[in-house]
Amino acid sequence: MSERIYLDHNATSPLRNGVREAVLAALDVCGNPSSVHAEGRAARGLIEAAREKVARLAGARAEDVTFTSGGTEANALALSPKAGDWICYMSGIEHPSVLAGGRFPQEAITSILATADGVIDLEKLATALANSQVKGRRPFVSLMAANNETGAIQPVADVASMVHEAGGFLHSDAVQAAGKVPFDLASSGADMISLSAHKLGGPKGVGALVLREGVAVEPLIKGGGQERRRRAGTENVSGIVGFGVAAELASAVLSKTAEIGKLRDELEARAVSIAPDMVVFSASVARLPNTSAMAVPGTKAETLLIGLDLAGVAVSSGSACSSGKVEASHVLKAMGIAPELAQAALRVSLGPDTTKAEIDRFIAIWGEMITRLKRGRQAA
Ligand code: PLP
Repeated sequence: MSERIYLDHNATSPLRNGVREAVLAALDVCGNPSSVHAEGRAARGLIEAAREKVARLAGARAEDVTFTSGGTEANALALSPKAGDWICYMSGIEHPSVLAGGRFPQEAITSILATADGVIDLEKLATALANSQVKGRRPFVSLMAANNETGAIQPVADVASMVHEAGGFLHSDAVQAAGKVPFDLASSGADMISLSAHKLGGPKGVGALVLREGVAVEPLIKGGGQERRRRAGTENVSGIVGFGVAAELASAVLSKTAEIGKLRDELEARAVSIAPDMVVFSASVARLPNTSAMAVPGTKAETLLIGLDLAGVAVSSGSACSSGKVEASHVLKAMGIAPELAQAALRVSLGPDTTKAEIDRFIAIWGEMITRLKRGRQAA
């Protein structure tokens, strides 16, 4: 049986070379990083070396990097009202861990619609910011750097200017953008960004919230002085070490951006030649080079996903199965995509080592399934 083809890098990306070895070596360092003895200092040294590497990727100072249990916790830590009267705005296409609102009460959260291309609607945001100023409330905005389902890159720098002009604060979930396109705290203008190691080829269960110099956060987990009192609990030393190595390797992946984008574009062009009615979401805007969200009208993503899996290909669908009912993706819903088309949406996400041969095999398998489904529909 031939090897499986993994095209689900936006869900998680396999460990990059060198990460596993570094994690294993760190597991053998027994000290508690808060202990003052030599064993403790050795563990502390590993964390601080990793913090430097993550800070370099994030375009920030090492002391402004707070390690967390992942992107979800980083988002929850970021979303916290400051003293005063704040209102939280977020785009409807955010990850569920942002949509949950962190510590903002639900009544203080307003969702801003996305355009049909899957980008935050800047006019709607401008109106919302003006309204908040009229009411004397300060805006806290959360806008992801790139969407996990469509890959659509969001205008974070433009939004940063708008938000700062309105006296507000901007958080950006950069979990999908980091390491796939050039993006960092310094150039984005955001006040805080969230990162996750496993989307970069690091281990699962570790991430970071990175703050602009001088920005403070209210801890979510209290009861210890770790992470400059921003996050209590003994650090996940081996995970953090793996994150550091993956962050360091991210620049090598960035140099492959054009190559990955070319493969993705070829995949889409060949898929459209098989199914001319296929829709590629966010195709008209800047996207992550590795991501394609595609839908062939009349097909069901779940059926394709299962068929592809049985044939040895891992992809994902935008829909989520909850209580036995398949729900269309909230991202496509926020873009105003009809539910029938949204239910056909398949997400294919390439990695730095994806080959042309793998794309050829994906197209052969997918193409056969689509042709069979279409023939079946015509016969019915
Ligand atoms: N934000 C985005 C955009 C994501 O795609 C994900 C993961 O799917 C997360 C946050 C959550 O990250 P983690 O899996 O590290 O909790």
